[in-house]
Amino acid sequence: MGNIPAREAVVHMTTYRRQPVTLVRGQGTRVWDDEGRAYLDFIAGIAVDALGHAHPGLTEVIAKQAGTLIQVSNLFYTEPQIELAELLVGHSALDRVFFCNSGAEANEAAIKIARKWGILNRNGAYEIIATHNGFHGRTLGSVAATGTPRYREPFGPSLPGFVFVDFDDVEAIKAATTSHTAAVLLEPIQGEGGVIVPAPDYLRRVREWCDEQGILLMLDEVQTGSGRTGTLWAYEQAGMEPDIMTLAKGLGGGVPIGAVLAKNACAVLEPGDHGSTFGGNALATAAGAYVIRQLIEGGVLENVRTRGGQLERRLAGLEDRSPLVAGQRGVGLLRALVLTADIAPDVATKAMARGLLVNPVRPNVIRFLPPLNVSAAEIDEAVDIIDAVLAEVAAG
Ligand SMILES: *Cc1c(COP(=O)(O)O)cnc(C)c1O
Repeated sequence: MGNIPAREAVVHMTTYRRQPVTLVRGQGTRVWDDEGRAYLDFIAGIAVDALGHAHPGLTEVIAKQAGTLIQVSNLFYTEPQIELAELLVGHSALDRVFFCNSGAEANEAAIKIARKWGILNRNGAYEIIATHNGFHGRTLGSVAATGTPRYREPFGPSLPGFVFVDFDDVEAIKAATTSHTAAVLLEPIQGEGGVIVPAPDYLRRVREWCDEQGILLMLDEVQTGSGRTGTLWAYEQAGMEPDIMTLAKGLGGGVPIGAVLAKNACAVLEPGDHGSTFGGNALATAAGAYVIRQLIEGGVLENVRTRGGQLERRLAGLEDRSPLVAGQRGVGLLRALVLTADIAPDVATKAMARGLLVNPVRPNVIRFLPPLNVSAAEIDEAVDIIDAVLAEVAAG
């Protein structure tokens, strides 16, 4: 196999700061590197591997579909694509779906829908209110909606039509709303921003404002959706419904897939408006349908709630045990440990040396994103490793 990091440095564009580890296989919540070391995987492909690695049922579905039909373009119908569409529409408040291949693409489609809806229904309103510290992807459109200037500035003039306000501030959305506003775009919980959970009534109050003003509310559930927070969609826990919802990450259980869902009243795309060669291919949608069924019928959603509660209690317990812990936050199995100093990268590196993969999502925040079928013993094992690492760091 040779020295993979050295080979990568020669041929790749250097977009990623990788850990010096080459992973070769996985099983459940565990992955192994090319030297045979095992790691407990609490990153799960960044909230993607919903059922863990090499899940027997998912593997069988993917292998069977690959041996039958992988993709035929959207010039034709396939059954897996209709099945997943029916599952998503049947188990959400939304009426129609468009399939693509990633979170960024799902948000691109949502932005196009909002703009066309504004032309048709609000005198050409095109502005979208998004949030500082939010994340919606890296394409020119989705990055224009992303509240981190660093991600936009290297690439010249940004797509116009985006206004940024603070997250968890309804009054700021009200103040930013004008006759040009077509939509508000929010994550129910800011994931890449550091697992920022808003006040319990935030989304409901934004919903009320959008209804009052006649503008669309679009939720980016790319990270929070597909069971990650303990309900199929995070909005269910907020007592409101979005007009548009975007999905990706966990939906395919590791197979690339994205989707945008819309209520009938704003499903304005018509033939020729939008498209994707790979979008909704038979392989990805067969995987997606299996994942959704496992969440609902296989007891996985219930596991997210129980294991999420356990992880919350164990992380809260670290607050009493270590002076380096400022607190913890999150919902379901989207959780974060907040540290008192910018030591998250060091903690993550030391955790890896002890056989645990966690993500330092901010300089002072460790993010936990285990597979949704993680076991009680694995949660305990992971928190015990973090406990030991914090003791090691405190001892200097
Ligand atoms: C990861 C993420 C995206 C981008 O998804 P990609 O598949 O990397 O394009 C968009 N929105 C949110 C909330 C995300 O967490």
